[in-house]
Amino acid sequence: MALIVQKYGGTSVGSLPRIHHVVDKILKTRAEGHQVVVVVSAMSGETDRLVALAQKLSITPNPREFDVLLSTGEQVAMALLSMALIDKGCPARSYTGAQVQIRTDSVHNKARILEVEGSKIQADLASGTVVVVAGFQGVDDLGNITTLGRGGSDTTAVALAAALQADECQIYTDVNGIYTADPRIVPYARQLSQVTCQEMIELASQGAKVMQIRAVEFAGRYNVPVRVLSTFKEGSGTLIIQSLHKDHSIVSGIAYNRDEAKFVLRGLSDLPGIAAQILNPLSDAHIEVDMLVQTPSINGATDLTFTVHKRDFNQVQELLENSSKTLKLDKLEGNDQIAKISLVGMGLRSHPKVASTMFHTLGVQGINIQLISTSEIKVSVVIDEEHLERGVCALHEAFQLGKEPKEVEIN
Ligand code: ASP
Ligand code: MG
Repeated sequence: MALIVQKYGGTSVGSLPRIHHVVDKILKTRAEGHQVVVVVSAMSGETDRLVALAQKLSITPNPREFDVLLSTGEQVAMALLSMALIDKGCPARSYTGAQVQIRTDSVHNKARILEVEGSKIQADLASGTVVVVAGFQGVDDLGNITTLGRGGSDTTAVALAAALQADECQIYTDVNGIYTADPRIVPYARQLSQVTCQEMIELASQGAKVMQIRAVEFAGRYNVPVRVLSTFKEGSGTLIIQSLHKDHSIVSGIAYNRDEAKFVLRGLSDLPGIAAQILNPLSDAHIEVDMLVQTPSINGATDLTFTVHKRDFNQVQELLENSSKTLKLDKLEGNDQIAKISLVGMGLRSHPKVASTMFHTLGVQGINIQLISTSEIKVSVVIDEEHLERGVCALHEAFQLGKEPKEVEIN
């Protein structure tokens, strides 16, 4: 007998027939002899609806009350699911985050889980009851309801699995697993049977939005075996593992991101303190800078290039125009028609050939690389947005990602 935490996302519980389907899946797991703890998201569209309601009422909704409101979506889903289980003769009980004591800090709308109290759940499980917990929410030291940020039910599931020392945390969603590339762009993308936590974090943060990044980080920190799989199609999904398997491929997947914009400051004086003068106003405004490159100076002048999220484009433009009044600068260029492609894989650190193959492949396609950044397990390039699909497909082909790793040779 194993203890399994199953998390069902919004589309999986998006209608009453779908809730019935989830009930069948839970009953099947139980019939196999396992104990089940279920974490549910709000029915699809519900959290968006609640956000819109609050924003119609108030320009800056009070954060505490906003969390009280948002947490109701999951409460509806957990009650409906438990009712449906009970009607099928399966003992079930639902709990909100506060009821099971998912204790968080007090940062409303983006709270972090500090501790999970498992005793209530353990007692229910011991009596053969299926426990259904509302995802995405917790309670702070003062008893206020908090929420964990969009997509936070994944984190609830992983945290519960860690606290209960579950044998597996299954994240049921509307995709079959993690792919070598977005199947909408690369039709012959292959589903990965396993991926490491580190790769998954890169794939998720680089644009493969299957699971909340915090949840993957949590799984890595607490050694929780997580499996991503489809609610609607049978299959074993993708297992997120802690460390490398011997058959692991060098490149696991390709991620892309269309959400970034690029700024170039040309002809800056190359003096101490200039980069800080430019970037401090951005960090003061909580704007995250992703890639950042300064070119070697020629005659005391240098160029600074960086990327930010597209939604911050106008604000960054304004901030830079402001600081350029006091800076010596030839030109300020902003471009929001860019895209980033990243190759992700544990083998990258020991295979320098990967980066050169990537650059060569894009070169053959006539795709110009505007920026490059590398880390231990990732190589990212910024290109013109219009070449994104072609670039991803060419790279997928070049690294033979459609084939099982054993068949691929990169020297
Ligand atoms: N319902 C929340 C959201 O839509 C949390 C979740 O689904 O994980 O973001
Ligand atoms: Mg989700």
